[in-house]
Amino acid sequence: MKRTRRRFLQEFGSLIVVSAGAGMAEAAGGDERPARRSHLKMHRDGELRERGRKLWDMMEECELCPRMCGAKRLEGERGFCGASAQLEISSYHPHFGEERPLVGRGGSGTIFLTHCGLRCVFCINWDISHRGDGAEREIEDMAAMMIELEGMGCANINVVTPTHYAPHIVLALDIAIGRGLDLPLVWNTCGWERLETLRLLDGIVDIYLPDFKYSSGEMAAKYSAGARDYPKVAQKALLEMQRQVGTAYTAPDGLVHRGLMIRHLVMPNGVSGTGKVIHWIAKNLPRDTYLNLMSQYTPAYMASRYPDISRRLTREEFEEAVELARRAGLINLDIQPMPR
Ligand code: SF4
Repeated sequence: MKRTRRRFLQEFGSLIVVSAGAGMAEAAGGDERPARRSHLKMHRDGELRERGRKLWDMMEECELCPRMCGAKRLEGERGFCGASAQLEISSYHPHFGEERPLVGRGGSGTIFLTHCGLRCVFCINWDISHRGDGAEREIEDMAAMMIELEGMGCANINVVTPTHYAPHIVLALDIAIGRGLDLPLVWNTCGWERLETLRLLDGIVDIYLPDFKYSSGEMAAKYSAGARDYPKVAQKALLEMQRQVGTAYTAPDGLVHRGLMIRHLVMPNGVSGTGKVIHWIAKNLPRDTYLNLMSQYTPAYMASRYPDISRRLTREEFEEAVELARRAGLINLDIQPMPR
């Protein structure tokens, strides 16, 4: 469906004004959590809506992600990522397989967005990211999903592969907060993010959950559709994320409510450049930066066509990665056991 700027104003101009629960949320008053207070203020001030509009305008000749493909998404074109301005969602549900501080008792409230701008050849979610499995949804539908996930007891709203739908997510959040949503927002991203986009998310995202996939531009170009600038872009993005949300600390309830949580998938034959990734984190971010070292690489999608990544990781490769992280002085490591 084609959405012009005028249509944006017609739809969301009225929707946001009539977000009927706003009074209820405001009445909640004193016991708001910090994230909640910030979100609520941005909702009341119209700041969330304004950020959503600015992000929306970035789809005109799309420049939301570093691919900068210039697709005229507001005129119905699909970008390199496969997305038009029409929101498409694959699924939403409580997810118990995310990092423990994101799961709690009720799971992480994941919303899987269809399409992806990075397009790795080893993607385990290739049916969603490459093939485009999902259904067209409206922004109000996404807001309703957020409320429903909260009702199921989820610890947070976790938007997976969010960048190309950043405008829709911010607008949905605005509606959901107006209806009383009181959960942190997790930005579950490949780490390849433009600063211009991230700055519009400042104060909106509570937990950044980026991958740091490669230290080599050559590897990134080979396995992620020519994204040779991945390491440099991801490094700048991580610094901006750290500036916005700080280090992730676990609260007494066992959950992280705010902060930067980095994932690094160790790949076979040194493809991910784990040593350099760890070295960069240790040198540029606090020593207690949360780092999830992941051992579960599996040659999915088209990986079997590339000899270096056509097998699983060996135990020795993973143990070497863990040792590198310990020697680098990182003290907040989440070490995933090797799958059997
Ligand atoms: S988000 Fe999609 S359409 Fe926009 S620049 Fe990136 S690949 Fe292109």
